[in-house]
Amino acid sequence: MEINLISDTVTKPSSEMLSAMFSAEVGDDVFKKDPTVNALEEKVASLFGMEAALFFPSGSMVNQTAIKLHTNPGEQLICDKYAHVFNYEGGGVSFNSGVSCRLVDGHRGMMTAEQVEAAINPPDFYHSPLTSLVCIENTTNKGGGACWDFEELKKIKAVCSKHNLAYHLDGARLWNALVRKGENPKQYGELFDTISVCLSKGLGCPVGSVLVGTQTHIKEAIRVRKILGGGMRQAGYLAAAGLFALENNIERLAEDHAKAEEIGKTLTKLNFIKKVEPIETNIIIFELDESKITQEKFMNILEKHAISLIGMGQGKLRLVTHLDYTQEMHKVFLQVLNSI
Ligand SMILES: *Cc1c(COP(=O)(O)O)cnc(C)c1O
Repeated sequence: MEINLISDTVTKPSSEMLSAMFSAEVGDDVFKKDPTVNALEEKVASLFGMEAALFFPSGSMVNQTAIKLHTNPGEQLICDKYAHVFNYEGGGVSFNSGVSCRLVDGHRGMMTAEQVEAAINPPDFYHSPLTSLVCIENTTNKGGGACWDFEELKKIKAVCSKHNLAYHLDGARLWNALVRKGENPKQYGELFDTISVCLSKGLGCPVGSVLVGTQTHIKEAIRVRKILGGGMRQAGYLAAAGLFALENNIERLAEDHAKAEEIGKTLTKLNFIKKVEPIETNIIIFELDESKITQEKFMNILEKHAISLIGMGQGKLRLVTHLDYTQEMHKVFLQVLNSI
């Protein structure tokens, strides 16, 4: 039995999801003639109470498109130092939009409204890049699946309005935050100019992300998506997985969160673990006490049991629970940890 905890992207479509995909009605989505893609886009837009949505092959492409919509070359966006858009999108911010990132030293990937306001360059001071966009991530990836306090997001929105900045949410794992905090997607739709959500993470789809925003933004986003090579043809087969996932796989994220919490409790009790970061959703970040066990040795033991996880650098290790991490795997994993 292989226990893969490197990410919640490792899930494979269930037989129910596959049959939904196989029976999808499709058309050419580049001509907007795929009924299943259109249905998915309408569904996601209405979930967020926003005007329109657009289906994409990846979350990175959604974020990159949103950044392109909100900025001009030479300008600057504000994000936390842990942000996915800065760390894990291949430098796309500069490649695609010619934009730089002003990094904020936040807490677990989250900034305060004061920090955001302090990071804005004065617009009249033409020596510095013009600040045009604030990017938020919820839940935070490198921040260990932390969920934002919605009140802080509102305060940051007020800063954006005051300074005429666009406000984008990288909601690759927003579903996890919604379930954990009992929030409504419409709250987010009211606050942000654009939102990206992933279907290929906790929701268990093989491929797919969605951008949500105004009609005007989405119309422009179709052009940007085309430029980036993201126009897909009979994509309804993939969108069908998304529709299935939205119906069936959101509420169950609570199970992934519960398992993550149990793993955290076990790790905390082990004497060779130096630190476990607070666990709010499905991501567990922890550090080994290298005087008791080296990372190499720890990884070797897990590898022998076909358990995989990833290193985040600086001695941090990450585990992510997901749809395909079964109760049986969970039992085995906890036993292995306790036996080290
Ligand atoms: C996974 C992820 C994305 C998008 O990733 P893709 O692999 O391009 O789909 C964006 N933001 C965050 C925070 C993520 O975790």
